[in-house]
Formats: sequence, C-alpha cells, structure tokens
Amino acid sequence: MSYAQHEHHDFLGASAQALADPTLQQALTRLTDTLLAGNRRGYAALADSSELRDHAKRIKEHSLAHLDQYLEQLEASVLKFGGKVHWAATAEDARRIVVEIAKKANCKHAVKSKSMTSEEIHLNPALEQAGIEVTETDFGEFIIQVAGERPSHLVAPAVHHTRESIARVLSKHLGEQLADDPKSLAMVGRRVLREKFRQADMGITGANFAVAETGTIVLVTNEGNGRLTTTCPRVHVAIMGIEKVIPRFIDLPVFLKLLARGATGQTLSVYTTLITGPRQPGELDGAEEFHLVLLDNGRSKVLATPFRESLQCIRCGACLNACPVYRRIGGHAYGGVYSGPIGSILTPLYDSVAANPHLPHASSLCGACQAACPVKINIPHMLIGLRELQHYHKPSRWERWAYGLWSMVLCRPWAYRWALWAARLLLRRNAQNGWLSQMPGPGAEWTKVRDFPAPAAKSFRERWKELES
Ligand code: SF4
Repeated sequence: MSYAQHEHHDFLGASAQALADPTLQQALTRLTDTLLAGNRRGYAALADSSELRDHAKRIKEHSLAHLDQYLEQLEASVLKFGGKVHWAATAEDARRIVVEIAKKANCKHAVKSKSMTSEEIHLNPALEQAGIEVTETDFGEFIIQVAGERPSHLVAPAVHHTRESIARVLSKHLGEQLADDPKSLAMVGRRVLREKFRQADMGITGANFAVAETGTIVLVTNEGNGRLTTTCPRVHVAIMGIEKVIPRFIDLPVFLKLLARGATGQTLSVYTTLITGPRQPGELDGAEEFHLVLLDNGRSKVLATPFRESLQCIRCGACLNACPVYRRIGGHAYGGVYSGPIGSILTPLYDSVAANPHLPHASSLCGACQAACPVKINIPHMLIGLRELQHYHKPSRWERWAYGLWSMVLCRPWAYRWALWAARLLLRRNAQNGWLSQMPGPGAEWTKVRDFPAPAAKSFRERWKELES
C-alpha cells in the first residue's frame, strides 16, 4: 500500500470541499485558535524559550548525525532489560513483524494508544485481516476508527467532528441512542474502552521519544490510555520511527518541556509514561513481553538529502495550528497521514514528489510554522526546496515561457515601466471602489475566492518625481 492514503488524491477538490463546509470551518477555527494561543502562552511562560528550542534542535541534529550509533545503543539497552528489537525497513515489514508477534503470542484482542507511526504503516487492516480485533483507545482515535476515517490533526485526530456528529457515530456503533453532551459521551467512551482494556492481550503504542542510553520508551498522553495500553495486556509492542531516538536521559526534560507547550500550551501533558523493557521480577505491573519495532520506511533516504531537518519533527502539531492553509482546509485535504506544513514535506518525501505535486505549494511561506515549531524547523525553506525539485524535473511549457518573459522585462527598465503602465491601465478600468472582483489570466484563481486591490493611479516613480518637484 502506498504511503499516501489515496493513490490519486485530488488536493484542490478536497480543499474546495473543506472550504465549503461551514461546520468544519467553525471546528477548525475554534481548535487552531485555542491551540495556537496555548502555544504562544506556553513559550512565553518560559524565561528562556528560544534558547531551549535551540538546545532541543542541537540535540536532534546531533542524534541524526550519529543515528546509526544511537540506534545500536538503543537496541543494546532494550535487550539488556529483556525486551526484543525488530528492524523494519518498510511499512510492509513493520506490519508483518507485528502480526507475527501477535500470532506467536496467541493474541486475539489488541488495544492501541495514539500512534501516527501505526497510521503511517496502515497497521489496523493488517491485524484485522489476521483475525486480531484492534481497538483505538485515545477517544479521538476511537471516534474516527468507528467512523471509518483518518486522523485530521496530529494531536486532535477528530477535530473535524462536532459533539452532535460524535453522538451520531457512537450511537450507530453501539446500537443505543446517546445524548450529545461531552460529559456523557466521555463516560460512554470510558465504559466501552475499559472493557476492551480488560479483554486485551496485546497493547500497541508509538513512542514520542526513545532514550538510547537506557532503552526507555517515552509516551506522552492526556487521557491515561497509554498507561492502560502498556500495563494491562501481556504483550506490548511499541512502533517508532528511527528518528525518535535521543541520546541521553538528561536530554528528555528538554523535549518534555517543549512538546506539551508547543502542542497545547500545557506545562506538561497529563501523563508522561516511561517504559524500560518488560515487567521485571518483583514489579507489580507491566507487560510480560516487550517488543520495539524500529521503522525506517524512507527515513534513512531522507537523512542523506537537504531535507534531513524534517526528521527533527516531534509531532506536536504546532505548525498545523499556525498555518493559514491548514486552518482553512483541515487535515483530510492533504491526502497523506501527516497533514499541515510538516505533512506537505513528509508526504512527498516518504511517498514521492511526483505523486503529490500540490503539497509543496500548499503554503503561503509566511513562516508562521517555523515560528511555532518547538525545534524551529525551517519548513518554508524545505517547501521551496521541494518546489525546486519538481521544477527541476518537469518545468511546464507555460512556466518556461512566463519566466522567460519576466526575465526579459526585468532586464529592460523601459519594458518594465511600459508593462506596469499597461497593467495599471487595464486593471484600473475594471476596478470598482478600489477593488477588482475579476482578474484576467492566472490571476482569476485569486479572485475566485477574494477581491484583489486595484493598482494605484500613479506609480511610485511618478509620485516620487512629483514630490521632488
Ligand atoms: S514540524 Fe515542528 S511544529 Fe510541526 S509538528 Fe513537527 S515539531 Fe511540531
């Protein structure tokens, strides 16, 4: 299966559909406004937030520069405590490994805590095909699993739903009429999921971080489902992208300070769970078997490119909340598992640039994503890099012609002045109250959804001359 959810995803069509959906627009504005305000508050509450973010970035740069070494150290540390490590080069390998672990341990019921990596490898259908029941236990993920949808945000997967639609989806699934108030819906979720935890023999998680020095897997959640997923079932499988490794235990607080602040503005997420291997003699809880699946799936290929910085992402979702494009079109329009500005980089890189031609252009390059990012990833720079890559391979005839003409005009001051005079004349003729509601040529795309300011009556040079005289 391709990394992208749909082989031929219609980005423009899906975006237009999202823009025309008033409920989605309302939900997106509410969520992204709240989370973005939290992000700003969170950074402002730290005396040294910029330095801390630089420090986090340096740790990530160092880890990626020595990735082979830290992954081997992580493997040795996990083995020391009785865990098992599996290397998965592709999504298919990872799916096969998890299914084999489940079959070998005779597991029939799996519970999952929220994991974008498991979404990336499309794990649930593979487990279900093997006869293993899978239940998402993050409430947002549970809702979209029941609805048969994909997550639309890195930290708020069901942002596209309202409480009314959640009540509808759950009522249909459970065969009972549920009230649409948030508290009773949460209690229903609790009732259903507790039973699933009780039955489960396998727990599947991702990993926000993995410490090479100690072999510790770190899970950051707000609902406590991560703890139940890792302590109730007898087998625990953690699936993580290879870029999630950090060298030392002392590096962890740097990221914990930033992750929740970047994502929601919380000082810390409600639950931070640290797991080092399976249950040890004398311990009261924990899985009897612990497996760590290290997923490459295109990451090592990215490591050797100018897009390596994208591997520093800690999946906080802050860039989504800050992005004027994501804020209007939501996550599903992007087509891949990862959405927003970072998804516009990861999807073309992990899948293919040619198969996702619109994503590198789904940005105004305003830089709001980089400003919000806890590790200051230069997302606009990489989006421009991806655009160059596309054009390097396939410049359209129209683009070649347009840029040739543009260059010719810019090299000749008389032609530049004449072109501006002609454009001003043409556009001002169609303007009303200082605005153009319809632009000619490619400019028509702009005026499809908003007006364009009419050019001034006189050029800057003309006005300057007047001022001088
Ligand atoms: S790119 Fe930065 S802001 Fe966006 S999800 Fe990753 S860490 Fe968060």
